[in-house]
Amino acid sequence: LDVLRSHESFRVIHCVFGSNIELGIRQIEEFKPDYAGCISKEHADIIRARFPFLKNVFYGSGIEESASIPCDIFVSAISGSNGLRSTFTAARHARRIALANKETMVMAGDLFNVECARHDTEVIPVDSEHSAIFQCLEGEKHDSVKKLILTASGGPFRTLSSHELDAVTPEMALKHPNWVMGSKITIDSATLANKGLELIEASKLFHVDEKSIDVIVHPQSIIHSMVKFTDNSIKAQMGMPDMRLPIQYAIDYPTRNDAIIRDIDFLSLPALTFYAPDTDRFPLLRIAREALRAGGYMPLVFNCVNEECVYAFLRKKIKFTDIALITEKYYERYRHLANSETVFEDVLRIDNDIRNTVKKEVEACQYL
Ligand code: MG
Repeated sequence: LDVLRSHESFRVIHCVFGSNIELGIRQIEEFKPDYAGCISKEHADIIRARFPFLKNVFYGSGIEESASIPCDIFVSAISGSNGLRSTFTAARHARRIALANKETMVMAGDLFNVECARHDTEVIPVDSEHSAIFQCLEGEKHDSVKKLILTASGGPFRTLSSHELDAVTPEMALKHPNWVMGSKITIDSATLANKGLELIEASKLFHVDEKSIDVIVHPQSIIHSMVKFTDNSIKAQMGMPDMRLPIQYAIDYPTRNDAIIRDIDFLSLPALTFYAPDTDRFPLLRIAREALRAGGYMPLVFNCVNEECVYAFLRKKIKFTDIALITEKYYERYRHLANSETVFEDVLRIDNDIRNTVKKEVEACQYL
């Protein structure tokens, strides 16, 4: 929305928000959309009474239906697997999807690509790494690409020992050094699960296999990702770490508008450094890579077990290091789901079944 403040030619048609109704009300007041969506009937009643100009207020499963409201750009930003259904619905009705929800690509990337191709829907990534790669690939041929190089900040615990990682609390994990984001993705950044999800997302978005994607830790988050070409030329996209840039790019593409974010002052930058990711201390990146290689429903298994573990960690049911331990355990248990062809109905069913199993076991606190 902050990006749209400087874009006078854009109008918000539909605005969906989560549990923060005060912020939602301020957004409706400022952007005057035709429709709004929120989390509960109770909130919907409050919003309806307060803003009689709204044509409809959606909640619950109505959010998914409301993704069929025709629009030029659908910003898919509902976090976690909750965003999946609405993003698929939008693939049939929007002209462009600005994709911030990476679960769509992780859980059902192949199906989503087919759906978007069928309806001639353009997908522009909002995830900063994928926006960087998308920008580097502009004007290049697919068979000139040798490697996609995803950069990772390494998260706030990059230098902690395994022992110290054991004692990490949600409060410690929610402070990301470079990016301001929601709680699910901030924890995922700290465990490197986020980079694992982005690895899978990149493979599906850019149609390259797992071997063609490297991950490198770059704590300053100035290079947002790179592409290496067959002649060993490398293009890197750089900028101050500010999510408004990839969002603006996805909205303005293929043109570029005036800057919203701060300029890089190269002379005052800290030295840019690079490290190999440590998958012994941060095993979720390794498991994600295995899931991508295994194919079938394994990326989905990785995603939903990790997601449930993150919620359990945030509720202080399990330790920080348990997130990876439990995810690996379930990954092994569901290995038989590799290599099977994915079907949309099964995506949701399997996701739901595994989540319920994980939730039950985690609630029983066998791991602490
Ligand atoms: Mg990212």
